[in-house]
Amino acid sequence: MIIVMQRGASKKEIGDVMREIEGMGYRTHPIYGVERTVIGAIGDERGKARLQKFETSPGVERVIPILKPYKLAGRELRKEKTGIAVGGNAVFGTGTVPVIAGPCSVESLEQVCSTAEAVKAAGATLLRGGAYKPRTSPYAFQGLEEEGLKMLAEARTRTGLPVVTELMKESVLDLVVAYTDVIQIGARNMQNFDLLKAVGQVQKPVLLKRGLASTINEWLMSAEYIMAQGNMNVILCERGIRTFETATRNTLDLSAVPVLKHETHLPVVVDPSHGTGHWEYVEDMALAAIVGGADGLMIEVHPNPHEAWSDGSQSLTFERFATLMQKARRVAEAVGRKV
Ligand code: PEP
Ligand code: MN
Repeated sequence: MIIVMQRGASKKEIGDVMREIEGMGYRTHPIYGVERTVIGAIGDERGKARLQKFETSPGVERVIPILKPYKLAGRELRKEKTGIAVGGNAVFGTGTVPVIAGPCSVESLEQVCSTAEAVKAAGATLLRGGAYKPRTSPYAFQGLEEEGLKMLAEARTRTGLPVVTELMKESVLDLVVAYTDVIQIGARNMQNFDLLKAVGQVQKPVLLKRGLASTINEWLMSAEYIMAQGNMNVILCERGIRTFETATRNTLDLSAVPVLKHETHLPVVVDPSHGTGHWEYVEDMALAAIVGGADGLMIEVHPNPHEAWSDGSQSLTFERFATLMQKARRVAEAVGRKV
């Protein structure tokens, strides 16, 4: 922290502030300028009283944090990128672009297994599917719950694809952990801090989606919640944010990818399905995400999108997904990466 003293602050005021900071266990580093004095407070703030309180001390103008608030997620303390391996055949964050594909909701064993086989044949390395669904309407399909988890597990047995599925409440954490390879925290729960703390206490990788109206800073603070509990395996997922635009379901913020590369060592996945809401736009944004540096993609695929129980309008058919994968491979190669 830097404590900026007011112009004309007295020697006593400066001395009082320094003594109090030192009394709290920090070292002080004063810089005496012609006009004003600035005091650097050096030390780890965790577990100590907050330095922000000096804002109201006599003679103090401002208190400015120097370290980013996301200490574990940020690049200040860890320079090298984090690679997160899932299920032996996919690594996020080390130059390859694993693709997570599958239906929005698990609907039946036949639906999830046929999708798993098709996306695997096309080159996807992970299967997605929701068994607990966060729906806007309480009257909409809410997911098959444990039965859906069992279907996902069966699809994994048949194809070998690791599974990504959403956790919405702590009461089913153990159940979901038992069935899944990656725990998805959905956009609506990005700031459910108790849920974040709970998944921080297990060691399964967590795919943390960006909140509907969350800033990058808030998103990274949510990652920090998980990491502060000991689970360092956090994969961020940009899935679009709310803007004034209505032509797409959300506005896919691809600029978040380079910003995050700068701010964090964690891998960043892009979900153009929820990002656009229309299957017609999914392929273009998926390719753009690869060029933009995404460490992975999440794509919704359904055997018959017209009949899907959720998100049919943004889901790709098997054929369209296969075409997307062919193009993705070429685009990735052009930018020195591999799908
Ligand atoms: C999903 O992945 O199906 C989903 C509900 O995503 P989001 O939380 O990004 O809306
Ligand atoms: Mn969906």
